[in-house]
Amino acid sequence: MTSNHALFERARQLMPGGVNSPVRAFKSVGGEPFFTARADGPYLWDVEGKRYIDYVGSWGPMIVGHNHPLVRQAVADAIGQGLSFGTPCPAEVTMAETITRLLPSVEMVRMVNSGTEATMAAIRLARGYTGRNKIVKFEGCYHGHGDAFLVKAGSGALTFGVPTSPGVPAGLADLTLTLPYNDLAAAEALFAEQGPDIAGLIIEPVAGNMNCIPPRPGYLAGLRELCTRHGTLLIFDEVMTGFRVALGGAQALYGITPDLSTFGKIIGGGMPVGAYGGRREIMQQIAPSGPVYQAGTLSGNPVAMAAGLAMLELIQTPGFYAEIDRKTRVLTDGLRAIAVELGVPMTTNRVTGMFGLFFTDQTVETFAQATACDTALFNRFFHGMLQRGVYLAPSAFEAGFLSSAHNDDVIGETLRAARDALREARQ
Ligand code: PLP
Repeated sequence: MTSNHALFERARQLMPGGVNSPVRAFKSVGGEPFFTARADGPYLWDVEGKRYIDYVGSWGPMIVGHNHPLVRQAVADAIGQGLSFGTPCPAEVTMAETITRLLPSVEMVRMVNSGTEATMAAIRLARGYTGRNKIVKFEGCYHGHGDAFLVKAGSGALTFGVPTSPGVPAGLADLTLTLPYNDLAAAEALFAEQGPDIAGLIIEPVAGNMNCIPPRPGYLAGLRELCTRHGTLLIFDEVMTGFRVALGGAQALYGITPDLSTFGKIIGGGMPVGAYGGRREIMQQIAPSGPVYQAGTLSGNPVAMAAGLAMLELIQTPGFYAEIDRKTRVLTDGLRAIAVELGVPMTTNRVTGMFGLFFTDQTVETFAQATACDTALFNRFFHGMLQRGVYLAPSAFEAGFLSSAHNDDVIGETLRAARDALREARQ
């Protein structure tokens, strides 16, 4: 039997950091990652046969649990017909019909292969449609690894962007303006100064890449109003929140109509899929009906469409979101009760099937508050949980995810592990 350590040693020789996506390498929490051999329901099993209760869910897609028989069957049926055609296929039309039915703001849609592709295309479209060059993003929000998004604020919110990653040309970073999340006054000030130059404002309507931070009441409505007033397109990046916080995404939950939306994760049922869509007159600017170019060899792949459609079918079961919401509350209430019992300062945030734990006695509504939490305590807690067979996201700045396969017994087992892990982790 091969071991996790032996695999990581081999991987490190051949892949940067031993992984194909950075956070998998456990750099933030320390130690070495495990290698998953198989997954089923709420569980992962590593190559050494150890079982973990999984709160990462492949970073969001696995909302019906791993290896769901109906998703697997749909994929098997699709594979029987061939893997990729390079011509239109019927499942793409069904997918477009499903998305536009579930999200009324999306009148037309384009399928792509990842969330990154979706956000990159949405920004190009916003620029092409408005004829403006600048975009606004929020500190702590992640929109994939496109150059325009790898930018954080300088010392002040109104200053030009500074690239976070070498390789992003300063001339491009200058076009990305960064604002603090959940601060409407800062957005108003920026638009008062630069509104006429701003093509699009892109936001995670519930921030899930600085742990889990919901929008303050009225915040998204305030941004909607600002964008409308200044002729800027409001882009909801629902790669994480889409089909996660509600069937109609965060836009349904908070009653906001964005101009464009981006999707990924759940929409692909575990396959590499993304999508972007929105108002018809804007989407018609996309090639071949319009001049804004975007394309993909494998876009709308029949096997990926089959997986996504099967998952979209399952999440339309009546009561699906109410039950995930209830179970997430049982988990976060249980964790908080344990923290109180042990005298450890801990706050939790949650929106339906998405949650975050913060080691602080403050409520957490901003990026600054999230980054001020005790990350060393989180890292010890993470390893204590891992040792006890519970896999949390390996960073203090990632949201956690529940699936419909996490039943009350699984949550109870998680809470028993948490009591022991937290007792050990506090100092
Ligand atoms: N947007 C958001 C909100 C995300 O959370 C992510 C990935 O985690 C992305 C975009 C990028 O998606 P992908 O990793 O599929 O490129």
